[in-house]
Amino acid sequence: MSEKRKAIGLLSGGLDSRLAVKMLQEQGIEIIALNFVTPFCNCTAKNSCQTEAHKASEEFGIELKVVPMFEEFMEAVKYPKYGHGSGMNPCLDCRILMFKMAKEYMEKVGASFVVTGEVLGERPMSQRLDAIRIIERDSGLEDLIVRPLSAQLFEPSKPEREGWIDREKLLAISGRSRKPQMALAEELDMRDYPCPAGGCLLTDKHFADKLRRCLAKQENPDRNDILVLKVGRHFEAPSGAQIIIGRNEAENERLEQLRKDTDWIIAAVDWQGPTTLVRGPRVTSDDLESAARMTAGYGKGREAADVAVSCGKRDGEEVLLTVLPTREVQHA
Ligand code: SF4
Repeated sequence: MSEKRKAIGLLSGGLDSRLAVKMLQEQGIEIIALNFVTPFCNCTAKNSCQTEAHKASEEFGIELKVVPMFEEFMEAVKYPKYGHGSGMNPCLDCRILMFKMAKEYMEKVGASFVVTGEVLGERPMSQRLDAIRIIERDSGLEDLIVRPLSAQLFEPSKPEREGWIDREKLLAISGRSRKPQMALAEELDMRDYPCPAGGCLLTDKHFADKLRRCLAKQENPDRNDILVLKVGRHFEAPSGAQIIIGRNEAENERLEQLRKDTDWIIAAVDWQGPTTLVRGPRVTSDDLESAARMTAGYGKGREAADVAVSCGKRDGEEVLLTVLPTREVQHA
């Protein structure tokens, strides 16, 4: 008996990719799933595409490899060959990168093709026919990508022509309506599909502005510099340093987790309130004073005349200030 043919499935955790994987599994294809993660994924630890991808891989009994993307991805964000979408999202370059990585992995594990949940016309930037052609060509996967949900709208790919999979069992879904996918989920008995709250922050205009400001100051931010953009209220201190004020308990904790050795962490001593992180190449005493006043201004002691605030670094350096609360950056 011939060995089962293998394919690499791009499993985001959303419904489309789950349906695509399931459809090919039903055709006897062995799927190895890849889940790409960027620092711009807008999910929480509880409700993340990664968690959903894990759940899906367990449900389908398939192997899952989580692939974090950073350096090359940041290059695509900064200098996209095919431009940005509505925010800072370089969707074509991003997809090309993912498919290139999928191709490498496909060759490494002896798989024959790649399967995705893409639906023609569902996403304005990366799922138009001309964009799909560019992505195929630049990733080197021409003829080797199967999109079970829309396959009938494309020329038959090699896996279909060679009879590795039955084209008749693939679909011709297009456009942004989710109804056909919902119906298919019912048919395949996949009622417990998730509706991830996730998404990509690069498409968010407000976040894109924050990222532009960050890139204007430092050409090569590290992963931590990006993650910190996702937390709290952001202000610019007098020297240009960042003042980031937690908006709730979870953000306060997150700022503590993300602090670098050179960062200052600020909190009021006697009043409940936010944790503030101050980060910059040269944080000045004016920066600390301003951040301390704002920490007090966003805390329970905001009406008080004087609030004691502690500013500390990981190496034990500490400054205690007594300040008048405010919610605005104070310039000397
Ligand atoms: S929305 Fe974000 S993750 Fe999705 S293709 Fe565009 S850049 Fe990549």
